[in-house]
Amino acid sequence: MKTAEHSIAQIIVYPLIQRLEQPTQTSWGRYEAVSILVVEVRTTSGVSGFGEALARFAPHGYGALVADALAPRILGHDALAIGALWALMRRALSGRAGGMLIEAIAAIDIALWDIAGKVAGMPLWRLLGGEGRREVPVYAASVNWADDDAADAAVADFLDRGFDRIKVKIGGPAEAAIRRITRVRERAGDAVTLYADANWAFQPDAAARVGRALADHGYAWFEEPLRPEDEGGYAKLRAACAVPLAAGESNYTLDQARGQIEARVLSHVQPNITRAGGLSETRRIAEHARAHDVAYAPHVGMSGILCELASLHLAAAQANTSVMECACAPSRFKDALADIAPGYRRARDGMLAVPDRPGLGAEIDRAALATLHA
Ligand SMILES: [Mg+2]
Repeated sequence: MKTAEHSIAQIIVYPLIQRLEQPTQTSWGRYEAVSILVVEVRTTSGVSGFGEALARFAPHGYGALVADALAPRILGHDALAIGALWALMRRALSGRAGGMLIEAIAAIDIALWDIAGKVAGMPLWRLLGGEGRREVPVYAASVNWADDDAADAAVADFLDRGFDRIKVKIGGPAEAAIRRITRVRERAGDAVTLYADANWAFQPDAAARVGRALADHGYAWFEEPLRPEDEGGYAKLRAACAVPLAAGESNYTLDQARGQIEARVLSHVQPNITRAGGLSETRRIAEHARAHDVAYAPHVGMSGILCELASLHLAAAQANTSVMECACAPSRFKDALADIAPGYRRARDGMLAVPDRPGLGAEIDRAALATLHA
């Protein structure tokens, strides 16, 4: 067999961890520290690509998974045959695709796309051959749900910074959530687009009450009202209230997103590119959503700059992009890791420009990789 010009020569893992300056509180839990896995893929031609896995805990475990289970399958192969490499890596697991394996594959997949862009001399938004947008609408995330005064301050701060789309975290009980929904609408005014994210806080009956309040106050979506496995609950909720539903950050592959897309239970599907198998699989999810008139709304959350950049390129290329999350909490995974400022510093008037350099469009700071090493 002829050796490919850009064969995979080496895969290096960087398990990273940071203590958060502002601990993040959701209805699911409190995060004092957060981790990710960064992966570097080097080719025989000397091109280096970087990717990221959503690895909230145990980043060394993800590193071992890449080194022991995934790298041996793809070393020596053509780095540009990304679809074939994805299938090879997926075969490391004989059961249903999901969990840490798919998150680890995401890191390599994103790195391979970074390489493909660098080899082509094109930013990914162009290489993907899609809409060719130069900027993407973003919303500010998030107004924390824990405290009224802090919530008021966060709304004022986001408005000051030019965001006209803002997401609010809500939690149980339903009455507290409805009070929060009402208060934030009053503070933000009617011209601002508001979204509410429950991180699975509610049982179905409570979710229906909250959903009706969100519709009354003109919220643009109700995100993850129920636990992701309760697909029947989502379908009933969709019938019971007028607010559009959004979810998908908890899914790994298209197979997990397919049912809610095809039934149009969701109005916006929100895969996280560093969880849902990287750019390749997330693009499949976004395209499937497009075929069913469901919008693609990338989730970023506590992920790092590589997640943000990969999501931004795909959002710029994808015809059915509605709006992308712009996570505004200070994070060294966004601030320190690359030579490009994170979205929450670059966004202007609620729009985020897509980088123009080849691949993901950023150089990774190797000193930062060492400083943040877990
Ligand atoms: Mg969410």
